[in-house]
Amino acid sequence: MSDRAVSPHLAITRAELAAARAALDPRAGPVVLVPTMGALHAGHERLLHAARTLAGPEGSVVVSIFVNPLQFGPGEDLDRYPRTLDEDLAMCASAGARLVFAPSLTEMYPGGKPDVTVDPGPVGQVFEGHFRPGFFGGVLTVVLKLLHLTRPATAVFGQKDAQQLALVRRMVADMDLDVAIESVPIVRDADGLATSSRNRYLSAADRAVALTMPRALRAGEARAAEGAAAVLAAAQEVLGGEPALAVDYVAVVDARTFGPVRPGEAGPALLVAAARAGGTRLIDNMPVLLAADTAAEGGSHDPATEGPAGHAAHH
Ligand code: AMP
Repeated sequence: MSDRAVSPHLAITRAELAAARAALDPRAGPVVLVPTMGALHAGHERLLHAARTLAGPEGSVVVSIFVNPLQFGPGEDLDRYPRTLDEDLAMCASAGARLVFAPSLTEMYPGGKPDVTVDPGPVGQVFEGHFRPGFFGGVLTVVLKLLHLTRPATAVFGQKDAQQLALVRRMVADMDLDVAIESVPIVRDADGLATSSRNRYLSAADRAVALTMPRALRAGEARAAEGAAAVLAAAQEVLGGEPALAVDYVAVVDARTFGPVRPGEAGPALLVAAARAGGTRLIDNMPVLLAADTAAEGGSHDPATEGPAGHAAHH
């Protein structure tokens, strides 16, 4: 029987979660987890629907809603991060979720800040990891805890956070975790901006500036037949044309490893970028199918993307 349109069970404590989780019969169908920080939007909704499909009519979708302080740096938006639990629960209900785990800080970290955390390795130090030190250690630590607490067969992540997705896959492989990782393409608003809980911080003027981001990615994608250097140059040109956008990085990488795409290399790759518009941080990316590079030269050099990164950042 489908659980569609039935309100999900809300577990606040880990004891409530354990009881609700134990009541899910594994013979009925798989448990599929969607980890989120709440303030759910159309991007999350797509994840919920994908999870519903993966769970099948007899399986269960579990959603976690937790704003994880471990992944916020000093001066970031932890305190003002949007919290909209009632609306989130309504979306979870209409998407057919069975169980929502929305723990308090002390439920999640009963001993305070954990001494033992996940080391994300070298890929955790570049791009997002360079601009947000400690970010991926915090992300992987909470994801690992959530996987242990909810014990899903499958967990679903968005391709919007492509480096996070790559690192979760890496953690699952390196730590022999018994979970399948599925991903969902980026959901965009009609104007092209990738949906994000942080978009609500944008003024109308900021949003106009932020739209440079998807424009740059599309400009890069349009040059894929000319190779990685052309893709990067086209994206950089568009980003550079908007002085109000503070670009953290733009690069062409291997989507699975976040390793370099070498000059002249052909095949699928990812054009990734991050920037700030009016103090709001935006990250976005676009898959590109590269043909061999005609003018085989890489991007310029920058320590932010040194290591596994190929083409470099511009500030
Ligand atoms: P967050 O609540 O921001 O931590 O995101 C929870 C999950 O939703 C992550 O796996 C994100 O990658 C995914 N997600 C967020 N925004 C989007 C989007 N616009 N399209 C697809 N997935 C998204």
